[in-house]
Amino acid sequence: MAGTLAGRVALVTGASSGIGEGAALALAAAGATVAVAARRADRLDDLVKRIQAAGGKALALPGDVVDEAFARNIVEQTVNAFGRLDILVNSAGIIQAGGVENANTDEWRRVLEVNLLATLYTCTAAIGPMRAQGGGDIINISSTAGRRAAAPFGPYSTSKFGLTGMTEGMRQEVGKYGIRVCIVEPGATSTEVADSISDPNYRKAMQAHVSKDGAMKPEDVADAIVFVLSLPRRANVSQLLIRPTIDV
Ligand code: NDP
Repeated sequence: MAGTLAGRVALVTGASSGIGEGAALALAAAGATVAVAARRADRLDDLVKRIQAAGGKALALPGDVVDEAFARNIVEQTVNAFGRLDILVNSAGIIQAGGVENANTDEWRRVLEVNLLATLYTCTAAIGPMRAQGGGDIINISSTAGRRAAAPFGPYSTSKFGLTGMTEGMRQEVGKYGIRVCIVEPGATSTEVADSISDPNYRKAMQAHVSKDGAMKPEDVADAIVFVLSLPRRANVSQLLIRPTIDV
Protein backbone atom coordinates (compact mmCIF):
# COMPACT_ATOMS: atom_id res chain seq x y z
CA MET A 1 0.00 0.00 0.00
CA ALA A 2 1.13 3.56 -0.66
CA GLY A 3 1.58 5.90 2.32
CA THR A 4 4.17 7.39 4.64
CA LEU A 5 4.96 3.97 6.12
CA ALA A 6 4.94 1.98 2.85
CA GLY A 7 7.44 -0.89 2.95
CA ARG A 8 7.68 -0.92 6.73
CA VAL A 9 6.73 -3.97 8.79
CA ALA A 10 5.09 -3.51 12.20
CA LEU A 11 4.20 -5.72 15.15
CA VAL A 12 1.48 -4.44 17.50
CA THR A 13 0.68 -6.13 20.83
CA GLY A 14 -2.68 -5.56 22.49
CA ALA A 15 -4.20 -5.23 19.03
CA SER A 16 -7.52 -6.96 19.74
CA SER A 17 -9.03 -3.74 21.09
CA GLY A 18 -8.55 -0.10 21.99
CA ILE A 19 -5.31 1.74 21.30
CA GLY A 20 -3.50 -1.32 19.89
CA GLU A 21 -6.32 -2.00 17.45
CA GLY A 22 -6.38 1.67 16.48
CA ALA A 23 -2.61 1.67 16.00
CA ALA A 24 -2.74 -1.43 13.79
CA LEU A 25 -5.42 0.14 11.58
CA ALA A 26 -3.57 3.47 11.37
CA LEU A 27 -0.23 1.83 10.57
CA ALA A 28 -1.87 -0.29 7.87
CA ALA A 29 -3.66 2.75 6.45
CA ALA A 30 -0.27 4.50 6.28
CA GLY A 31 1.07 1.59 4.21
CA ALA A 32 2.77 -0.66 6.78
CA THR A 33 2.38 -4.43 6.86
CA VAL A 34 1.11 -5.32 10.32
CA ALA A 35 1.37 -8.38 12.58
CA VAL A 36 -1.14 -8.21 15.42
CA ALA A 37 -0.97 -9.98 18.79
CA ALA A 38 -3.34 -10.46 21.76
CA ARG A 39 -5.17 -13.36 23.40
CA ARG A 40 -8.56 -13.03 21.66
CA ALA A 41 -7.97 -14.78 18.34
CA ASP A 42 -11.45 -14.00 16.97
CA ARG A 43 -10.86 -10.26 17.38
CA LEU A 44 -7.47 -10.51 15.68
CA ASP A 45 -8.91 -12.49 12.75
CA ASP A 46 -11.57 -9.86 12.28
CA LEU A 47 -8.95 -7.08 12.39
CA VAL A 48 -6.77 -8.87 9.83
CA LYS A 49 -9.81 -9.21 7.53
CA ARG A 50 -10.56 -5.48 7.84
CA ILE A 51 -6.98 -4.53 7.02
CA GLN A 52 -6.90 -6.91 4.06
CA ALA A 53 -10.27 -5.66 2.79
CA ALA A 54 -8.76 -2.15 2.71
CA GLY A 55 -5.86 -3.43 0.59
CA GLY A 56 -3.33 -3.98 3.39
CA LYS A 57 -1.29 -6.93 4.59
CA ALA A 58 -1.69 -8.35 8.10
CA LEU A 59 -1.05 -11.45 10.19
CA ALA A 60 -2.74 -12.59 13.42
CA LEU A 61 -0.52 -13.91 16.23
CA PRO A 62 -2.83 -15.02 19.07
CA GLY A 63 -1.41 -15.67 22.54
CA ASP A 64 -0.43 -14.34 25.95
CA VAL A 65 2.54 -11.96 26.02
CA VAL A 66 3.23 -12.83 29.66
CA ASP A 67 4.59 -16.11 28.28
CA GLU A 68 8.15 -15.06 27.48
CA ALA A 69 8.58 -17.71 24.79
CA PHE A 70 5.42 -16.49 23.04
CA ALA A 71 6.41 -12.83 23.37
CA ARG A 72 9.81 -13.51 21.80
CA ASN A 73 8.31 -15.80 19.18
CA ILE A 74 5.90 -13.20 17.80
CA VAL A 75 8.89 -11.06 16.87
CA GLU A 76 10.48 -14.04 15.14
CA GLN A 77 7.22 -14.95 13.38
CA THR A 78 6.85 -11.39 12.08
CA VAL A 79 10.39 -11.40 10.69
CA ASN A 80 9.89 -14.88 9.18
CA ALA A 81 6.61 -13.87 7.54
CA PHE A 82 7.61 -10.46 6.21
CA GLY A 83 11.42 -10.45 6.13
CA ARG A 84 12.04 -7.64 8.61
CA LEU A 85 10.68 -5.71 11.60
CA ASP A 86 10.66 -1.91 11.46
CA ILE A 87 8.10 -0.95 14.09
CA LEU A 88 7.17 -2.52 17.43
CA VAL A 89 4.18 -1.05 19.28
CA ASN A 90 3.63 -2.49 22.77
CA SER A 91 0.04 -1.71 23.68
CA ALA A 92 -0.93 -4.84 25.66
CA GLY A 93 -1.89 -3.65 29.10
CA ILE A 94 -4.24 -4.10 32.03
CA ILE A 95 -5.36 -2.08 35.07
CA GLN A 96 -5.98 -3.24 38.63
CA ALA A 97 -6.72 -1.13 41.66
CA GLY A 98 -4.99 -1.59 44.99
CA GLY A 99 -2.58 -0.19 47.53
CA VAL A 100 0.37 -1.42 49.48
CA GLU A 101 -1.02 -1.99 53.00
CA ASN A 102 -3.45 -4.71 51.92
CA ALA A 103 -1.83 -5.55 48.62
CA ASN A 104 -3.26 -8.38 46.55
CA THR A 105 0.17 -9.51 45.44
CA ASP A 106 -1.22 -11.84 42.75
CA GLU A 107 -2.82 -8.83 41.06
CA TRP A 108 0.31 -6.69 41.50
CA ARG A 109 2.37 -9.48 39.93
CA ARG A 110 0.00 -9.91 36.98
CA VAL A 111 -0.10 -6.17 36.21
CA LEU A 112 3.69 -5.93 36.36
CA GLU A 113 3.99 -9.02 34.17
CA VAL A 114 1.66 -7.73 31.45
CA ASN A 115 2.54 -4.03 31.48
CA LEU A 116 6.27 -4.20 32.20
CA LEU A 117 7.88 -7.62 31.80
CA ALA A 118 6.01 -8.64 28.63
CA THR A 119 7.13 -5.35 27.05
CA LEU A 120 10.69 -6.14 28.08
CA TYR A 121 10.39 -9.54 26.33
CA THR A 122 9.24 -8.16 22.98
CA CYS A 123 11.76 -5.30 23.11
CA THR A 124 14.60 -7.69 23.86
CA ALA A 125 13.58 -9.87 20.94
CA ALA A 126 13.15 -6.93 18.54
CA ILE A 127 16.48 -5.17 19.08
CA GLY A 128 18.53 -7.88 17.33
CA PRO A 129 16.62 -7.86 14.01
CA MET A 130 16.26 -4.06 14.06
CA ARG A 131 19.98 -3.63 14.73
CA ALA A 132 20.86 -6.07 11.93
CA GLN A 133 18.75 -4.14 9.42
CA GLY A 134 20.17 -0.76 10.50
CA GLY A 135 17.33 0.63 12.60
CA GLY A 136 13.71 0.55 13.66
CA ASP A 137 11.13 2.10 15.96
CA ILE A 138 9.91 0.89 19.34
CA ILE A 139 6.84 2.55 20.83
CA ASN A 140 5.72 1.60 24.34
CA ILE A 141 2.33 2.73 25.58
CA SER A 142 2.54 4.03 29.13
CA SER A 143 0.02 6.40 30.72
CA THR A 144 -0.35 9.67 32.57
CA ALA A 145 -0.35 7.29 35.57
CA GLY A 146 3.33 6.72 34.74
CA ARG A 147 4.04 10.37 35.54
CA ARG A 148 1.87 10.88 38.59
CA ALA A 149 1.00 8.07 40.99
CA ALA A 150 -2.75 7.55 41.16
CA ALA A 151 -3.22 6.13 44.68
CA PRO A 152 -6.15 3.76 44.12
CA PHE A 153 -4.33 2.19 41.17
CA GLY A 154 -1.00 1.25 42.78
CA PRO A 155 -0.08 -1.75 40.62
CA TYR A 156 -0.96 0.13 37.45
CA SER A 157 1.00 3.30 38.30
CA THR A 158 3.96 1.25 39.45
CA SER A 159 4.01 -0.72 36.20
CA LYS A 160 3.86 2.46 34.11
CA PHE A 161 6.60 4.26 36.10
CA GLY A 162 8.71 1.13 35.56
CA LEU A 163 7.88 1.05 31.87
CA THR A 164 8.99 4.65 31.47
CA GLY A 165 12.29 3.90 33.22
CA MET A 166 12.91 0.81 31.12
CA THR A 167 11.98 2.57 27.90
CA GLU A 168 14.15 5.65 28.48
CA GLY A 169 17.11 3.46 29.44
CA MET A 170 16.58 1.44 26.26
CA ARG A 171 16.51 4.63 24.19
CA GLN A 172 19.93 5.57 25.50
CA GLU A 173 21.14 2.05 24.79
CA VAL A 174 19.93 1.48 21.22
CA GLY A 175 19.99 4.89 19.54
CA LYS A 176 23.45 4.05 18.24
CA TYR A 177 21.90 1.22 16.21
CA GLY A 178 19.48 3.60 14.50
CA ILE A 179 16.61 2.42 16.70
CA ARG A 180 14.27 5.17 17.86
CA VAL A 181 12.37 4.64 21.10
CA CYS A 182 9.26 6.49 22.22
CA ILE A 183 7.09 6.25 25.31
CA VAL A 184 3.52 7.40 24.60
CA GLU A 185 1.54 8.55 27.66
CA PRO A 186 -2.16 8.85 26.94
CA GLY A 187 -4.78 10.30 29.23
CA ALA A 188 -8.36 9.02 29.28
CA THR A 189 -9.17 7.15 26.07
CA SER A 190 -12.45 5.31 25.37
CA THR A 191 -11.45 1.63 25.30
CA GLU A 192 -12.16 -1.61 27.15
CA VAL A 193 -9.22 -1.13 29.53
CA ALA A 194 -11.37 -0.82 32.67
CA ASP A 195 -13.44 -3.95 32.00
CA SER A 196 -11.05 -6.41 33.66
CA ILE A 197 -10.60 -4.48 36.94
CA SER A 198 -11.59 -7.03 39.58
CA ASP A 199 -13.02 -4.60 42.17
CA PRO A 200 -16.55 -3.76 40.92
CA ASN A 201 -16.56 -0.22 42.34
CA TYR A 202 -13.21 0.74 40.84
CA ARG A 203 -14.22 -1.01 37.59
CA LYS A 204 -17.37 1.12 37.31
CA ALA A 205 -15.51 4.31 38.23
CA MET A 206 -12.77 3.68 35.65
CA GLN A 207 -15.28 2.65 32.96
CA ALA A 208 -17.08 5.96 33.56
CA HIS A 209 -13.78 7.87 33.49
CA VAL A 210 -12.55 6.54 30.14
CA SER A 211 -15.95 6.84 28.44
CA LYS A 212 -16.71 10.41 29.57
CA ASP A 213 -17.64 13.01 26.99
CA GLY A 214 -14.38 14.55 25.89
CA ALA A 215 -12.25 11.43 26.39
CA MET A 216 -9.95 10.63 23.48
CA LYS A 217 -10.63 7.86 21.00
CA PRO A 218 -8.09 5.14 20.16
CA GLU A 219 -7.57 6.66 16.71
CA ASP A 220 -6.34 9.91 18.32
CA VAL A 221 -3.50 8.08 20.04
CA ALA A 222 -2.93 6.04 16.86
CA ASP A 223 -2.54 9.23 14.79
CA ALA A 224 0.05 10.48 17.30
CA ILE A 225 1.96 7.22 16.85
CA VAL A 226 1.94 7.61 13.07
CA PHE A 227 3.22 11.19 13.51
CA VAL A 228 6.12 9.97 15.67
CA LEU A 229 6.99 7.35 13.05
CA SER A 230 6.75 9.79 10.16
CA LEU A 231 9.48 12.20 11.31
CA PRO A 232 12.92 12.11 9.65
CA ARG A 233 15.01 9.31 11.14
CA ARG A 234 17.40 11.78 12.77
CA ALA A 235 14.53 12.95 15.04
CA ASN A 236 13.29 10.78 17.92
CA VAL A 237 10.22 11.85 19.89
CA SER A 238 11.26 10.09 23.08
CA GLN A 239 8.22 10.93 25.21
CA LEU A 240 4.75 11.92 24.05
CA LEU A 241 2.11 13.02 26.56
CA ILE A 242 -1.33 13.19 24.95
CA ARG A 243 -4.43 14.20 26.88
CA PRO A 244 -8.05 15.01 26.23
CA THR A 245 -8.47 18.72 25.55
CA ILE A 246 -11.05 19.00 28.31
CA ASP A 247 -9.50 17.82 31.59
CA VAL A 248 -11.84 14.82 32.09
P1 NDP B 1 -7.92 -2.34 25.94
O1 NDP B 1 -8.36 -3.17 27.09
O2 NDP B 1 -8.93 -1.95 24.94
O3 NDP B 1 -6.69 -3.06 25.21
C1 NDP B 1 -5.74 -3.80 25.91
C2 NDP B 1 -5.15 -4.82 24.98
O4 NDP B 1 -4.16 -5.58 25.67
C3 NDP B 1 -6.18 -5.80 24.45
O5 NDP B 1 -5.94 -6.01 23.08
C4 NDP B 1 -5.88 -7.09 25.22
O6 NDP B 1 -6.22 -8.18 24.41
C5 NDP B 1 -4.37 -6.95 25.38
N1 NDP B 1 -3.84 -7.76 26.46
C6 NDP B 1 -4.10 -7.68 27.78
N2 NDP B 1 -3.45 -8.64 28.45
C7 NDP B 1 -2.75 -9.36 27.53
C8 NDP B 1 -1.90 -10.48 27.59
N3 NDP B 1 -1.61 -11.07 28.75
N4 NDP B 1 -1.37 -10.96 26.44
C9 NDP B 1 -1.66 -10.38 25.26
N5 NDP B 1 -2.46 -9.30 25.13
C10 NDP B 1 -3.00 -8.80 26.26
O7 NDP B 1 -7.24 -1.07 26.59
P2 NDP B 1 -6.40 0.15 25.96
O8 NDP B 1 -6.37 0.09 24.50
O9 NDP B 1 -6.88 1.37 26.64
O10 NDP B 1 -4.98 -0.20 26.54
C11 NDP B 1 -3.82 -0.19 25.72
C12 NDP B 1 -2.68 0.45 26.48
O11 NDP B 1 -2.98 1.82 26.69
C13 NDP B 1 -2.47 -0.17 27.87
O12 NDP B 1 -1.09 -0.31 28.10
C14 NDP B 1 -3.05 0.88 28.79
O13 NDP B 1 -2.43 0.86 30.05
C15 NDP B 1 -2.73 2.15 28.03
N6 NDP B 1 -3.49 3.33 28.41
C16 NDP B 1 -4.84 3.39 28.25
C17 NDP B 1 -5.54 4.51 28.64
C18 NDP B 1 -7.01 4.63 28.49
O14 NDP B 1 -7.60 5.60 29.04
N7 NDP B 1 -7.67 3.73 27.77
C19 NDP B 1 -4.86 5.69 29.21
C20 NDP B 1 -3.44 5.51 29.34
C21 NDP B 1 -2.80 4.37 28.95
P3 NDP B 1 -6.71 -9.62 24.90
O15 NDP B 1 -7.62 -9.41 26.05
O16 NDP B 1 -7.39 -10.15 23.67
O17 NDP B 1 -5.47 -10.37 25.22
